[in-house]
Amino acid sequence: MRLVIVGSGIAGLSAAIRAREGGVDDVVVITRDRHGGSSWRAQGGIAVPIDDSDVKAHVNDTLVAGRYLNDEGVVWSYIGLARDVLNWLIRHGFEPCRGRSLEGGHSRARVVRARIGGDRIGEAVMSVLTRVSEEVGAQVIEGRLDSIEVNNNRVVGITLDDGDFIKADAVVLATGGYAGLYLYSTNDGDGSGIETAMRAGALVRDLEFVQFHPTVAMLNGDLFLISEAVRGEGARLVNKDGEYFMRRYDERAELAPRDVVSRAVYNELVRTGGVYLDVSPIKDFEEKFPAISSFLRAHGLRPGKDLIPVVPAAHYAIGGIAVDALGRTSVRGLFAIGEASSSLFHGANRLASNSLLEALVQGYLVIRAFKAYYSGGAWRYPVIGRYDVVVHTRCRLASYVDMGRVRDVLWRYVGIVRSEDGLRRAIDELEGSLLPSLITKAAMIRRESVGVHYRVDYPSWSGTKFHILFRCGDEA
Ligand SMILES: Cc1cc2nc3c(=O)[nH]c(=O)nc-3n(C[C@H](O)[C@H](O)[C@H](O)COP(=O)(O)OP(=O)(O)OC[C@H]3O[C@@H](n4cnc5c(N)ncnc54)[C@H](O)[C@@H]3O)c2cc1C
Repeated sequence: MRLVIVGSGIAGLSAAIRAREGGVDDVVVITRDRHGGSSWRAQGGIAVPIDDSDVKAHVNDTLVAGRYLNDEGVVWSYIGLARDVLNWLIRHGFEPCRGRSLEGGHSRARVVRARIGGDRIGEAVMSVLTRVSEEVGAQVIEGRLDSIEVNNNRVVGITLDDGDFIKADAVVLATGGYAGLYLYSTNDGDGSGIETAMRAGALVRDLEFVQFHPTVAMLNGDLFLISEAVRGEGARLVNKDGEYFMRRYDERAELAPRDVVSRAVYNELVRTGGVYLDVSPIKDFEEKFPAISSFLRAHGLRPGKDLIPVVPAAHYAIGGIAVDALGRTSVRGLFAIGEASSSLFHGANRLASNSLLEALVQGYLVIRAFKAYYSGGAWRYPVIGRYDVVVHTRCRLASYVDMGRVRDVLWRYVGIVRSEDGLRRAIDELEGSLLPSLITKAAMIRRESVGVHYRVDYPSWSGTKFHILFRCGDEA
C-alpha cells in the first residue's frame, strides 16, 4: 500500500505521520525543498476553539469573515476537530503558549501560539513534524513534481522533472498556494502543483480569491510580514499625515478582517503616500516578537519604538484544487490538502490563523478517505453548487513565460483593487501562462465585490452565492 505525498509543509508532513500511524506501510514524501513553502514562515498561530462553548463562536467568525461563501459543513467539521488535532500535535511534542492571542476577525482570544520562539509558530510546528515524520518512518525525497499519471480516471503515480516515475496507490498534493506569483508577496508559492493537478483532469475553484496581508514591512526592498498578532496586542495604523485612520473604515478598527484592513492601507498609501504601524502601545515587544524585532534591527529600526513602514502584499491563496471535506479531488485517487486545496473552509476571505488549522485538520483526516478508497474504491467528488460556474479551458502553455512580467501584471491589474479595463489588459498579457490567466479570468467573471475580491466597477455584492471552477478541456 503506497501513498505518495507531494510537499513537505504542515499539510504534507501531518498527512505522512497520520498515514504511518494508521498502518500505511509505504509513505513517500516528495518535496522540491525541505525548507521551502509557507509553513516554516508562519508567524502568528493556530486558531482553535478555547472550549466547547467557543466552537459555535469560532464557526460564526469564520463564516462572517468568509462572507458565507464557505461550506458550513466543512467549517463545522474542521473547527469541531481542531482541539483533537491540537492535542495530537501536543502529544508529539509541540509546546503551546499558556494564554491565547486575539487576532483580527476573531470575537475571542483563541489563537494558540508557540511557547518558545513567540512569533515563530511555523518553525515550532515544522520542527516537531519533521522529527516525528522521521521517527515513524515516512521517507522524504527531494524532487520536483512534473506530472500526475492517470489511467481510466484513476491515479497510478507521478513523474518527476528528471523523468523518474513513482508508482502510487494514491497521491496527496500538499504543494501550497500561489500568492508568490505576485510581485509583492510574503511567500514563494507558485501554484505549480495546482497546474499539474489541472492537467491531470482536476477541477480548480475560487482562484480569484487571493488574500493580501495588510501589514508587510518594506525596508530597503526587503519584505517581512508583521503578523496580525501585533495588531491584536494593540499596535495601530497611522498614515503619513499622522492620522490613526482605521476607525474611519470600520468600527473594529485594526482588528477588522484582513480584506477591510488591506483596502484601507492601500487607500491611505495612495492618498497620503505612506502608512506605518505604531507598536509603541505594546509592552515587551522584543520578547513577544523576536523574529520581527531582529528584522527591524537589521534595517536600523528600534523594535517597539520606531514606526514601521508597511504595505499590503499577496499572502494567501484561498482558491485551489476543488476538494470535499476529506481532500478528495475530481480525479479518483488524487487528494489535495493545505493551501493547494479549495475545501470552501475559508469562503471569500480567510480568517487569521485558520490556515494552519485547515492544513493540520486536512492532513489528519485524509488518511480516512485514502483507506476507504484503497479497500473498496469509495470516492466522492467535490460537489458543484447550483449557481456555480464551470468553465472548460484549453490548458495550453507557452514555451517561454517571462515570470517577472507575470508577477508585475498580476500585481498591477489583478491585485487589491480590480477593474474590467485592467483585467482585460491582464488577460491579453498573460496568455500562455495557465494559472495567472485563470486567476484573471475568474476575477473578470465575478462582476461583484465580495471578501478579498474587490472590483472598483462593481463595488457591491450581488447576493448570489456561487463559485467559479475551471477544468481543462475544449473551451465552450
Ligand atoms: C509569512 C507567513 C506567515 C504566516 N502565518 C500564519 C499564521 O500565523 N497562521 C496561519 O494559520 N497561517 C499562516 N500563514 C499561512 C500558512 O503558513 C500556510 O497557509 C500553510 O503553512 C500552508 O501549508 P501547506 O503545507 O499547505 O504548504 P507549504 O507550507 O507552502 O508547503 C508546500 C510544500 O510543497 C513543496 N512543493 C511545492 N511545489 C512543488 C512541486 N512542484 N514539486 C515538489 N514539491 C513542491 C514545497 O517545497 C513545500 O514543501 C502564513 C504564511 C506566510 C507566508
